Amino acid sequence: MSDNKKSTKIETRLITDGRRDEWTHGIVNPPVYRASTCLFDSYATMRERAKDPAARHLYYGRKGTPTQWSLEEALTDLEGGAGTKLYPSGVAAVNSAILGLVSAGDHVLMVDSAYEPTRAFARSILQRFGVETSFYDPMAGENIAADFRENTKLVVAESPGSLTFEVQDIPAIAAVCRDKGAWLLVDNTWATPLYCNPLALGADVSVHAVTKYIGGHSDLMMGSVTANERAYPLIEKAAFSLGQTVSPDDAFLASRGLRTLAARLKIHEEKALTVARWLRERPEVAKVLHPAFEDCRGHAIWKRDFKGSTGLFSVILKDGTDADTAPMVDHMRLFRMGFSWGGYESLILPSNPAGSRSATHWAAPGPLLRLHIGLEDTDDLIADLADGLDRYREHMARK
Ligand SMILES: *Cc1c(COP(=O)(O)O)cnc(C)c1O
Repeated sequence: MSDNKKSTKIETRLITDGRRDEWTHGIVNPPVYRASTCLFDSYATMRERAKDPAARHLYYGRKGTPTQWSLEEALTDLEGGAGTKLYPSGVAAVNSAILGLVSAGDHVLMVDSAYEPTRAFARSILQRFGVETSFYDPMAGENIAADFRENTKLVVAESPGSLTFEVQDIPAIAAVCRDKGAWLLVDNTWATPLYCNPLALGADVSVHAVTKYIGGHSDLMMGSVTANERAYPLIEKAAFSLGQTVSPDDAFLASRGLRTLAARLKIHEEKALTVARWLRERPEVAKVLHPAFEDCRGHAIWKRDFKGSTGLFSVILKDGTDADTAPMVDHMRLFRMGFSWGGYESLILPSNPAGSRSATHWAAPGPLLRLHIGLEDTDDLIADLADGLDRYREHMARK
């Protein structure tokens, strides 16, 4: 990356990154190169390329083609790392990165609000291979030092946390990790590279479920891992050993999503704030968990370390159980029910964090609904939620 490029604003780099002329051949986007076999024109070329298979030359389909390299290069620049690998899902990205950084006998410290499948991975495969995991309070900050063991090798953070949106003090945790000689991995999916750069805050590895905002259109599964100079060789080696690769078609879609990320995020952010502020005033709502709200845990850290908020937040209702949300969520017109998020459409999902917390205790007066605010008109979204909350209130009154 030239200094000239470094000084350009991130919104501009989002448009120009990864579009090398030798990859695009005079059109705007790198073409979709579908390849398993790449042909060598001579014995010497084959030998030469085998020497450094990680270099960006055509070698074998699993190493990628310019379609994947373009996306990797863009993410590396946007996250400010030394390199990026792509994976067939966000879960594959987090878990492969962990496998690259730990060995039997090591201990992993994972945030209590980590994405549930990452917790499950720690408790199954990692444990089976002799790696112990314990969980820490997302608000620990520098106090995480007390949770370190002699053999702690890696801290797995996610900020804000899944479902409950606690914002973590990454610089404070990074300082402890440096002091103790442990790696720090941050799942940066919520913020995207536009609103937070964990590597600049002291992390070694930044992970994305590209499936979410980077893809942005609910039509692909992908993950990415971007790492600093020190961690990248380990990340790359693990990705290669595990055979991690993505199709050029999906890489093309993800690159296309990336180009409009700044424009989409700004709208998700504004609309989510409008809907969240409206929800806060509703009598059925006990609390809105949104990092941009002062009463969100870690709000001051969000203000310090993030450049914006996105479209995903949670609402806690005043009373009832998960099952009591059925009359509301079953009849929504725009907020459809489904996993994932980050597409153009709004989503609603009843979720209960109680089952996936161990270092902290989840207590709430009523059920939690996770909302993703899409690009629809906010008056329409609010009308849908108003009718839904009316159904919830009537159902609770009849109980
Ligand atoms: C969705 C998600 C993942 C997993 O991504 P998939 O592509 O669904 O495997 C990981 N981390 C966070 C924070 C997520 O929201």
